[in-house]
Amino acid sequence: MLEDKNQEKTALEKLGEFGLIEHLTQNFSLNHKSSVKGIGDDAAVLDYSSNKIVLTTDLLIEGVHFDLSYMPLKHLGYKSVMVNLSDVYAMNAKATQITVSLAVSNRFPLEALEELYDGIALACKMFNVDLVGGDTTSSTKGMLISITALGEATDEKLTYRSGAKPNDLLVVSGDLGAAYMGLQVLEREKEVFKVNPNNQPDLSPYSYIVERQLKPEARKDIVELLEKLEVKPTSMIDISDGLSSEILHLTKQSNVGCNLFEEKIPLDPTVISSCEEFKMDGTMVALSGGEDYELLFTIDQKDFDNIKGNPNLTVIGHMTEVSEGANLVTRANTKIPLTAQGWNSFSDD
Ligand code: ADP
Ligand code: MG
Repeated sequence: MLEDKNQEKTALEKLGEFGLIEHLTQNFSLNHKSSVKGIGDDAAVLDYSSNKIVLTTDLLIEGVHFDLSYMPLKHLGYKSVMVNLSDVYAMNAKATQITVSLAVSNRFPLEALEELYDGIALACKMFNVDLVGGDTTSSTKGMLISITALGEATDEKLTYRSGAKPNDLLVVSGDLGAAYMGLQVLEREKEVFKVNPNNQPDLSPYSYIVERQLKPEARKDIVELLEKLEVKPTSMIDISDGLSSEILHLTKQSNVGCNLFEEKIPLDPTVISSCEEFKMDGTMVALSGGEDYELLFTIDQKDFDNIKGNPNLTVIGHMTEVSEGANLVTRANTKIPLTAQGWNSFSDD
């Protein structure tokens, strides 16, 4: 992760607001034709010829959405961008620009914000998006980050939550539950550290799940893959809150039901082993863990041959008539209604 820089810290007052913005954003360049004017004027200027524009924003608050005691600032910067890009990709759109708004208390030196911007810069580079503006202000306590992302898509490509039809297949990218289990490991280590600050945890057995928590990757590749396979999803959403609640968004907005097959839910082996260790149920973790930032979408059955056998995609169920409701079909072949928290039998405790 981050090496310990044993150097002098620079107070933010030293630079002033303009100096700070200029310093943090000096190495960003514009790469999209649609970015006419980026940072430096009163507003950015964008030019999107004929495509539709997708716009999404997220607000992240220290102590609520992130914990700096185990979240390195570089990762925080990267993840803040991912959370937004994931929403753009969930519309089957191409992400093009972001703005970054920051409120920081004087507890943070310049070097801390440099690390944050290193993460933002890496995300911009890896996902080919332009930083075109933002705002910087002080806060009395803690850090707030708000990122807005813009993207574009043709009318035909745009995919809403509302287009699923009965008999469509329900497909998910990647695997689920890892970010949540990574969080369990990090929370546990934080408690151990409080008791014994000299304890150096060995997180290597948990590297995949910890990485999924600290450094999620938005699935730009899946949007590109679907385009290549010539598959247009009928509906799509990204998984930020857990599979169960996202399925319910699709079924509600599409006015359909769903059968989700427990045995099909993709879990990484390290998720299964950490669930055993923490005495948790893998299905439950996938259904309600969240922060996976995978894409969940439906396709017409005629497109099955195009996605069949792709290692990035798993068919986990199918849509039904709305009267059948949204259900988990367990390994024992019983049907349990899905709830936003997972499934019904857990809502009592
Ligand atoms: P204004 O006073 O009009 O809000 P600012 O001085 O805040 O303008 O911003 C100057 C320029 O720097 C604008 O282009 C703005 O979008 C950009 N900017 C401000 N803060 C940030 C930031 N944290 N990250 C990226 N760009 C920023
Ligand atoms: Mg401003």
